[in-house]
Amino acid sequence: MSAPLIGCIADDFTGATDLANQFMRAGLRVVQTIGVPQRGLASAVDVVVVALKSRTVPADVAVEESLVAHRWLATLGCQQFYFKVCSTFDSTAQGNIGPVTEALMQATGENFVVCTPAFPENHRTVYQGYLFVGSQPLHETSMRDHPLTPMTDANLVRVMQAQTRCRVGLIAYADVAQGADRVREKVASLQAQGYQVAIADALSREDLWVLGQAVAGRRLVTAGSGLAIGLPQNFVFTPSSVEEHFPRPQGACAIVCGSCSEATRRQVQTFIDAGGSTFRLDPLSVGDAALLAQKAIDWAMPRLGQHPILVYSSATPEEVRRTQALWGQDQAGASVEHALGQVAQALVAQGVGQLIVAGGETSGACVQALGIDQLQIGLQIDPGVPWCFAGPGAGSSHGLHLALKSGNFGTDDFFTKAFRQLAALA
Ligand code: ADP
Repeated sequence: MSAPLIGCIADDFTGATDLANQFMRAGLRVVQTIGVPQRGLASAVDVVVVALKSRTVPADVAVEESLVAHRWLATLGCQQFYFKVCSTFDSTAQGNIGPVTEALMQATGENFVVCTPAFPENHRTVYQGYLFVGSQPLHETSMRDHPLTPMTDANLVRVMQAQTRCRVGLIAYADVAQGADRVREKVASLQAQGYQVAIADALSREDLWVLGQAVAGRRLVTAGSGLAIGLPQNFVFTPSSVEEHFPRPQGACAIVCGSCSEATRRQVQTFIDAGGSTFRLDPLSVGDAALLAQKAIDWAMPRLGQHPILVYSSATPEEVRRTQALWGQDQAGASVEHALGQVAQALVAQGVGQLIVAGGETSGACVQALGIDQLQIGLQIDPGVPWCFAGPGAGSSHGLHLALKSGNFGTDDFFTKAFRQLAALA
């Protein structure tokens, strides 16, 4: 079996799927693994994306898990490594983007890392090192109220510098606009000045092409999924089409939602407004995850089959703050994640074959509860979110179609649109 070209380590599950989706769209064969799998790869692929749940764990744990993933990818023979972080650079002053990048630099032997979360297609752009979501700088968006990683500074050079001992510089737009050779010259000049990491500006798909070309031959990049657009051009591969071999859907449809992000809350509201069946976990009861899950499962079981159902915990920033004040931030988050993981497991055991999970951390919890270790990447629903397929054994005898949606991704009608798209395949 030929060796994969690119080995990726993603710091959360939806981010991993988003990255896999980018490579798949370029015609590369992609597999996403959930953590480092016990078994080898089922078939030859061009890209392997290892999904970790390391975004908000303590930095030393994130480093250790990322190094284990790197060792496994290195044994597969990957030529380049990609540390995938969130397109809103979700992190705290303790990490984990800085510490993991530093550890992977050592492990890969790379002495300079270009770092950019830019993903213009999804309205994430970086200019003068400042991250914008649409027209707003990061700290003016709902990310400042994120339950786990509130982002209060849009200046990524500053944010990254707070997390690492490496010196962090900037590859500004003026250089990127002049092409890959100019970016390589800038990297050389930053290196000569003692920098080891640089945040790179990018405003368009073309800028990502330039950056992709500029990092050809580098052992490591740290980026959101956008940079994946610029990497395939550096490799020789035979493009393949996903429609032909993606399995057809079976079973009931359900949505499990633990994201409190604005886009997800709009998606939930749109689903409710359209008359969808919904059950809301009572956030103030999060102290008892098992009871929380059981109530939702009891509600869901008789409703499975005809139409999609939605179980959600999404709440406004004020409600989240009230819940966190009562139970503590970590306990509240972990408890809701655990409850939704149990709900997902029960739904799949009872015949759900098409499942959407909304929320990065929530997706991690659900995938772990379902015991899934490898996902085939399929059709894109919205930028950054593809349908995936987990073979039989993933908590179900038929296999499971799964969409793992990062909180802020997707149009308002995402839930119904996604199921419609899958039904069109059947
Ligand atoms: P996103 O992709 O939008 O960031 P995540 O699932 O990654 O979504 O993160 C949302 C976090 O908020 C999870 O830890 C989840 O358990 C927690 N959470 C969900 N609902 C509530 C709530 N009502 N109160 C407090 N925390 C919540």
